[in-house]
Amino acid sequence: MVSLVGLTSADIAGLPALTGCPGYRAKQVADWVYRRFAGSVAEMTNLPASLVAKLAESCTLFSSTIDHADVADDGTVKYLLRLADGEKVECVYLPYEARVSVCLSSQVGCPAGCTFCATAKGGLVRNMTSGEIVEQVLQIQREQSHRRISHAVFMGMGEPLFNVENVVSAIRILHAEIGLSARHITVSTVGVPPGIEMLAEQDLPLTLALSLHAPDDELRRSLIPTARKWSLAEILESCRMYRAKTGRDMTFEYLLLGGVNDSEEQAAALAVLLRGIPGNVNLIPFNYVETPEGFRRPEREQVAKFRQALEVRGRRTTQRMVRGRAISAACGQLRSLRSRTESPGALSLVEV
Ligand code: SAH
Repeated sequence: MVSLVGLTSADIAGLPALTGCPGYRAKQVADWVYRRFAGSVAEMTNLPASLVAKLAESCTLFSSTIDHADVADDGTVKYLLRLADGEKVECVYLPYEARVSVCLSSQVGCPAGCTFCATAKGGLVRNMTSGEIVEQVLQIQREQSHRRISHAVFMGMGEPLFNVENVVSAIRILHAEIGLSARHITVSTVGVPPGIEMLAEQDLPLTLALSLHAPDDELRRSLIPTARKWSLAEILESCRMYRAKTGRDMTFEYLLLGGVNDSEEQAAALAVLLRGIPGNVNLIPFNYVETPEGFRRPEREQVAKFRQALEVRGRRTTQRMVRGRAISAACGQLRSLRSRTESPGALSLVEV
């Protein structure tokens, strides 16, 4: 069975079931999948019954099912998707007044090993296919049909640039088929220069977000083990190149861990480090995850001081709005414990 989600219009036109059909049939099928959000081939009512029957024999729409949904008071919904092989990933619906965003996973688990992140704890299981990545958007859109998804961020489970080919194919579908503006698609990375270079080659004005989290290599490597592979100098060089090629300002994400990386001296060092690379620094106070290091959220005053120290040095800052914390849907909290415990109880981040 071929899953239609993940195929481009051109791929759909080449399906054996469509051989001999007029060209517009392929467009109708793509419309049902990507613009009318059909759930099954049987819903494609403007196709001849014989074609529907033929398609149904060889194609399905989705390979995943929604296993569970958690709804927070602020409207955030965290979905647990069950993939065809039984693996589970999480994705999040984030409605705001003026936009509707989804937070997407790119891998089942993650190999990056970030010490503060819940997803890292189980390591990498496997890469997601481009179809599985796109399915997250369509599954959420079908559930939330009253509002149109306008933005997508790759800030769910996984490191998108360790699965860059499938992520790029998925982005091409989000852009060309579903109609999301490339500017509204953010790829957040731990810092993988070859992946950043590949993104820069795509001729898509994506938003690149770099998870910095420290102003020097030593501290950064203690927080992000993968960072041992590339120095900050190498990563920032690829960011400069990204900026030169795409003309896009980027975002620097800076996770604030109380007493670890939140001093004013560190803010000053960060301002120096980023000199010459335009882009704002998005401050993310730690969302609690139990860690051996006992990481904690910084005090509110410390966050304000850190922010001030960057701004007086001319660096624009924003602070990440916390959404969905009550349902463990905030950044770094995705772990899909259900896949491990099978417990019907509330999601919790305590180690199991
Ligand atoms: N692998 C990618 C994207 C996934 S995480 C990356 O590293 O960028 C998205 C963002 O959430 C990253 O900046 C990540 O460092 C941050 N994050 C991880 N754990 C967090 C936590 N416990 N609290 C707040 N942010 C966290």
